[in-house]
Amino acid sequence: MEQKAFKMQVSLQSLPMRKCACCGEAKFIPSVNLREVSALLSPNGKPGVIFTDAGFICATCGEQADLTPQDDKSVGIVSEERDGNI
Ligand SMILES: [Zn+2]
Repeated sequence: MEQKAFKMQVSLQSLPMRKCACCGEAKFIPSVNLREVSALLSPNGKPGVIFTDAGFICATCGEQADLTPQDDKSVGIVSEERDGNI
């Protein structure tokens, strides 16, 4: 299946920035969880540590970033209905 690029003429600078709900910081750092892998589960038969994605945390206060999309209520189209009695 060919993956077509979704081209939009939008400057990234014009997009609203999400800010930390706790302190208002606009920078986030990717974070990981480190997980123990026992020798039984390890492909090479030796215990190890792997990392799994744990989302983004605020660069200032460490609060977990909320990655749920905002409701686009402000973008809703307001249609002006006209009644036919002219
Ligand atoms: Zn913060």
